Amino acid sequence: MQPPRGTRDFGPNEMAQRRRLEALWRDEFRRYNYREIQTPTFEEIELFLAKSGPGIRDEIYDFKDKSGRELALRPELTAPSMRFYFADLKMEPKPLRLFYFGPCYRYDRPQAGRYREFWQMGCELIGDNSPEAHAELLFLALRLFEKADLKDVKLRVGHLGFLRGWLKRLGYATSAEQSPLMRLIDKKELEKLKAALEPVARSKPDDVRNFFELFTIESFEQIKLLAGDAESQGAIAHLVRVRDVLASFGADLSKVRLDPTIARGLEYYTGLVFELDAPQLGAEKQLLGGGAYDLSAVFGQPPVDAVGFAAGFDRTLIALEKHGHPMAGSDALDVIVAPIDPAAQVAAVRAASLLRAAGRSVELEPRPVAVRKVLARATGLKARVAVFLGSKELERGVYAVKDLASGAQTEVSEAALADEIRRLVGH
Ligand code: AMP
Repeated sequence: MQPPRGTRDFGPNEMAQRRRLEALWRDEFRRYNYREIQTPTFEEIELFLAKSGPGIRDEIYDFKDKSGRELALRPELTAPSMRFYFADLKMEPKPLRLFYFGPCYRYDRPQAGRYREFWQMGCELIGDNSPEAHAELLFLALRLFEKADLKDVKLRVGHLGFLRGWLKRLGYATSAEQSPLMRLIDKKELEKLKAALEPVARSKPDDVRNFFELFTIESFEQIKLLAGDAESQGAIAHLVRVRDVLASFGADLSKVRLDPTIARGLEYYTGLVFELDAPQLGAEKQLLGGGAYDLSAVFGQPPVDAVGFAAGFDRTLIALEKHGHPMAGSDALDVIVAPIDPAAQVAAVRAASLLRAAGRSVELEPRPVAVRKVLARATGLKARVAVFLGSKELERGVYAVKDLASGAQTEVSEAALADEIRRLVGH
């Protein structure tokens, strides 16, 4: 029987790689004083409907429990984090930096890099909407991939104030009028967008032409020439400041480019928006997405500025594989310890215990076993060292230690055992 469509089993080797990336990222969040939270895997469906609208129902796993509660497996972690914030954390000193790591579920059509169960690590910075804070957050996003040694990434940064300013200039003043257009922009459906703007193009041909120019702009200098109203000028000033502060962090600006057309269709986004891609991944190349947002209305609370991102954990591992340097991580065994003679059993247990206390991974043969069998099992387990103990060794109070890489065998006293294993394993 296979796991359900869009889900995966992870074997020991893959788990070692996953845990390694998890540890690297976790450590990076800690360095920026993000503190971890955990929320339930399922929530009241209302949370996601209120955040993303009724359409989200088709994209998520929803179900009724035995008491008739309408629940959903979480498709993302920002709404749960902010639910938690408004319920219990809002008295915490601000700015508040939180991070999370956990599985998310979406009723997507599975394909390479797209699953129904996948993991996100992400963060929310609550209570600071300054370009300086945004720059640090973006720097952290870049650092995650640098830490993982994934060099070929592109961070595209935009600002909704810019697009909204332009749409206003074209005559779409309210967010209700702007939303359908923002969705087309988000999906880069330029033909449909052209059709939708057809009536405006007749009265304001220059403005519409300039608007489509936005889709070709990559540099901050170019965009200044296309600034529309005060809102879009403010957006440009914000982005320029973000870029300058990013530079002061030492960010590699060749990985950062302006993309004024990132729209992220939903209304709760307030300004900065960004996406990070691994271009070589093809269709599912987006590794991270985020932006500044305000979800207070969902919870009937006064406005609170927040900014955050979610990094796709599974896709990052795929990108590393494609780059030819998969995440190092090893489930290899350090030592196999075996009694060869029934009389040696107690001493074998003692050796295993002292090596475990020294931090080694140890497999202990629970019953006496022939040397040939120990070695065959050690090969199967890819153990680094075999330690065995027969009546001869027992008499002399030593252990036979075999380096399985070189085949060399020595005799070592119990007192010297842990040091000898450290020498052979190399750390
Ligand atoms: P989003 O919450 O849609 O902005 O997603 C954030 C990140 O999660 C994306 O950039 C992807 O790397 C990852 N992601 C989203 N959906 C999936 C999926 N179905 N399977 C694997 N990764 C995903």
